[in-house]
Amino acid sequence: MTFHIITLFPEMFDSYIKRSILGRAIEDKKIKIKFYNPRDFTKDRNRRIDRKPYGGGPGMVIEAMPVIKAIEKAKGGKKKVKIIFLSPSGAQFDNNYAKKATKNYSDIIIICGRYEGVDARVKKAFKMEDVSMGNYVLTGGELPAMAIIDCVSRQVEGVLGDFNSLEDSRVSSPDVYTRPEVIEHKGKKYRVPKVLLSGDHKKIEEWKKNHKYPKLQNVKN
Ligand code: SAH
Repeated sequence: MTFHIITLFPEMFDSYIKRSILGRAIEDKKIKIKFYNPRDFTKDRNRRIDRKPYGGGPGMVIEAMPVIKAIEKAKGGKKKVKIIFLSPSGAQFDNNYAKKATKNYSDIIIICGRYEGVDARVKKAFKMEDVSMGNYVLTGGELPAMAIIDCVSRQVEGVLGDFNSLEDSRVSSPDVYTRPEVIEHKGKKYRVPKVLLSGDHKKIEEWKKNHKYPKLQNVKN
């Protein structure tokens, strides 16, 4: 899977993607992440790409043409490409979306907006989907893009080890415990639920089922 990120701030991604599981996935060539800065695709002498919105209003809008050219560069001649236009009013991103994307595409282009967003004509020039990370407004699309890279990459075969198998293919619980069995804080003792120490796998699975992620259990395979 190759991610093509269109962003004014590629350096924002550095520390997150270079560490831990994603860092290893890149090293192992399971995933690839490429960056395209719209500023590199403008003819403006000062590399300026933001302008006042037509119709008035606050904030600046990112020009369409530098973004369109960046998308063209990312797309090349590739066929199985999905284009995501990040927007707080798009369709809610979730595990199912990530799973389908992994199955059907080899390349995902993600357009990160900033300021008031990107000129809407970009959405007419290519087939793409408006995708939201949640019902809140952020200052830019970089965090949502990182969340998408992270979640989709977990679905790519070989990115997670056996130990870390995907939540929707096993019984998983959001409540997890590790050593020691008892901790003490401000005079109070906190213990690990007894069942997890019992070695009784049937009972443990039962306990996990009652502590599951209600939404993730509905993920379609
Ligand atoms: N005024 C715009 C929002 C601009 S926020 C509006 O009302 O739609 C600036 C950019 O941040 C957006 O273009 C988008 O790329 C990104 N962004 C902000 N919140 C987001 C969210 N919840 N999901 C996905 N992208 C988001």
